[in-house]
Amino acid sequence: MKRRHFIHSALAAVPAVAFPRFLSAAESSAIPGDVEVLTLQGKEILLKGSDVQDLAARLRGELMLRDSAGYDSARRVWNGAFDRHPALIVRCSGAADVMEAVKFAASHQLLLAVRGGGHSLSGQSVCEKGMMIDLSQMNSARVDPKRRIATIEGGALLGALDREALALGLATTAGTVSHTGVGGLTLGGGFGRLARRFGLACDNVRAIDLVTAEGKFLTVSEQENKDLFWGLRGGGGNFGVATSFDFQLHPVDPLMFGGDLVYSFEDAPKVLEFYFGFAASAPDELNIDVSLVRLPNDQRFLKLDVCYSGPIANGEKVVAPLRQIRKPIQDSVAPAPYVKLQQSSDVATAHGHKFYIKAGFLQKTTAALIDDIIATIAGANLPVVNAVSLPQGGGAIARVKPGATAFAQRAAPHNMFVMSRWDDPAVNDAAGNWTRNAWKKLEPHTHGFYVNEFNDDSSRMRETYGANYDRMVALKSKLDPNNLFRLNPNVSPAKA
Ligand SMILES: Cc1cc2nc3c(=O)[nH]c(=O)nc-3n(C[C@H](O)[C@H](O)[C@H](O)COP(=O)(O)OP(=O)(O)OC[C@H]3O[C@@H](n4cnc5c(N)ncnc54)[C@H](O)[C@@H]3O)c2cc1C
Repeated sequence: MKRRHFIHSALAAVPAVAFPRFLSAAESSAIPGDVEVLTLQGKEILLKGSDVQDLAARLRGELMLRDSAGYDSARRVWNGAFDRHPALIVRCSGAADVMEAVKFAASHQLLLAVRGGGHSLSGQSVCEKGMMIDLSQMNSARVDPKRRIATIEGGALLGALDREALALGLATTAGTVSHTGVGGLTLGGGFGRLARRFGLACDNVRAIDLVTAEGKFLTVSEQENKDLFWGLRGGGGNFGVATSFDFQLHPVDPLMFGGDLVYSFEDAPKVLEFYFGFAASAPDELNIDVSLVRLPNDQRFLKLDVCYSGPIANGEKVVAPLRQIRKPIQDSVAPAPYVKLQQSSDVATAHGHKFYIKAGFLQKTTAALIDDIIATIAGANLPVVNAVSLPQGGGAIARVKPGATAFAQRAAPHNMFVMSRWDDPAVNDAAGNWTRNAWKKLEPHTHGFYVNEFNDDSSRMRETYGANYDRMVALKSKLDPNNLFRLNPNVSPAKA
């Protein structure tokens, strides 16, 4: 990990004032001090206090400066490795605020971060000294059961989508941790327990409300702005700010068959070998994500996170072969409410820990891959949590043509990432180095990477998007020629 990610900014406090949400007559005459900001070009400039005041007056939501009440919690994101201080946080109340904020950022050429659920593994939803568009208050979720459509605001969390849909016996693909943001997850793809059955989260999007780099509001769907609809499904935050999503929902049994099967590390090679074969021919209703973990107390194990969404009566039979590979040391696989399964990793992935991840898509599973995964976890020896995880692909994900949406890596049987999680700043460098070295061994098994996970090697963007890359560049050049939306796995616009 680049060292600078962990350096707390020692920059002197900039002159700024707390700015109220609604200006009283007396307050509106109190123009805030000039605000020091960073531009897209990396230059430090002073924003006039009167310009900042004008922006605040145009918002229904809040404009926060460094000493505003609530600033410190608003700037924090899920990954504790990133401790950044935006000069301005626009806490938007709706699309109109997003339009104002984007126009302001564009006209002043401000470095701009967009925060949905705040779970960016690479910390790109917060920036030092730029503007942060914070969508966290735009978190409503509404279901139309007749049309089987969920309308979800751009800053909502997955738990809201699952809960509202499940209450009506409906669901769509969402990620596996309920406090992750719908916005970032969906725009980058969106793997989850139902993805092999219903496709990625982005495959289930029917329409998106988008604010472009010019601050224009567009409705984007298969019928309107079709090219952009293609790009938004996998292209991440490159093309604008999504203020709302319409998702296709599907009838499901709210009770599914799932939980964890945990095996000893000694059994891991055998289990992994069986698992890869089994996963390749599993029914679409079965999703199994595998992780090999090493804890700071030197405990190692292999975990299968199982979810079968088919007829519950078939669950035992479907899962039986996994129980027979070797005797699990823990087995919680049983009938369980889907919403509970979706929350089962919430605590283990709580906010504020430091994380560093390297990721890529597998093309095939081989004996050499198994050896390298086992060796990676066997060799871990730091006071941190280390894991190699392989969320499953295939099924409905693979039945969408690679060119049908921007998300190109349809054929990958698994996504793979290696990660370190820790708290003590004294191990920042060691954890970063360990992850990078582990990835050197694992990366040759991969092709492209999942843009929603971190891979700080931008040279792999073309590989990631494959034949879709040139179309992405054309779209980016048309919609965002100045690359206002650059804090993401970035598709650079063509030079004018
Ligand atoms: C604990 C945890 C569990 C995860 N589990 C899964 C999983 O099961 N499946 C999976 O596929 N991924 C998973 N991920 C990865 C996840 O998809 C990404 O971290 C994703 O970026 C999270 O979205 P967010 O809105 O919370 O993130 P944010 O940090 O808010 O945003 C990340 C980036 O997305 C863009 N963005 C976010 N919202 C918007 C918006 N409304 N409009 C425009 N751009 C936006 C911005 O470019 C931003 O930099 C997980 C991540 C974490 C931390």
